[in-house]
Parts: sequence; C-alpha cells; structure tokens
Amino acid sequence: MALRVQAHVSYLETRYKMSGRSPTPLKSGPKRQTLAALIARALGLRCPACGQTRLFSGWFAMNDPCAQCGRRFNRAPGYLLGSIYVNYGVTAVLVVVIYFGCYFTETLTSKQLLAVLTGLIVVFPLWFFRYARSIWIAFDELFDPWPNEQESRELEKSG
Ligand SMILES: [Zn+2]
Repeated sequence: MALRVQAHVSYLETRYKMSGRSPTPLKSGPKRQTLAALIARALGLRCPACGQTRLFSGWFAMNDPCAQCGRRFNRAPGYLLGSIYVNYGVTAVLVVVIYFGCYFTETLTSKQLLAVLTGLIVVFPLWFFRYARSIWIAFDELFDPWPNEQESRELEKSG
C-alpha cells in the first residue's frame, strides 16, 4: 500500500516537472496566528488576522472587510454558514447540561424545565450569533490563514 502511494507520488512529481509549469512565487505568505491569540480575538469579536478591528458594527451587521488588514470576514459565498454548526452545537450542549443538571438535582418541575429550556433555545442562539460567527472565522483562520494562495493572487491582481 505504502509502496503504491509512493509510486503514485513520484509519478505525479515527474508529470509536474515535465509540464514545465512553475507557479510564480508569492510576495509573502500568510501570517499564522497562535491559538491563544485566535481564542482571545474570537471571544473579543475582533478580526482574527490582526486583532485591531471589531467584527460587527451592530447586532448582526459585519464590518467586512477588516479596515486595518483587509481580511475578508466572508471569504466566499456560503462561508459564514459554518457558524450555524457552532451555534447549534453550543446550544445543544447547553440544553443537555441544564436538562440533566436540573433533572438529577430536582431543582425544577418538568413543566418549569420545559419552559426554561424552550426560552433558552430561542434566546440563546440569537445572543450567541456574533460569537458563533467569530469562533467560526477564528477556527478557519487557524487552518487557512488569510490570505491563502488564491486570495493573495486575487489581491495582487486587483492591486
Ligand atoms: Zn484585520
């Protein structure tokens, strides 16, 4: 198996060399942020790339792109939809923890617990919306720092 993979890689390398194409080197690569910096910026609702500007100008409106470093917060169509997973996940964990916490300590009756959790699943995701987006963008910045190769080329083209 390993031998087959190695053979395929060397085949691809040979093909690439024979094609005569060499990508033009980029002026500068993206700057990798530390995990601690990204967490602090995500919780502070700040630009993950520079930490200088605020992500939001209102409850839902974003300051896109960053006025300081130019990082686009919405990098591609549908990109920010990933924040829904963050919002849903945190809400679900919170509901499960509160439910079992109240169930085992018997602090609330079933009806009271239902009312509290129903209110929570309506209000909490609205309040958490900005943080979910901020965490999603920071998570993305960790694995794919701005600007990636394609974005660098687009920035160079546009001047
Ligand atoms: Zn920035």
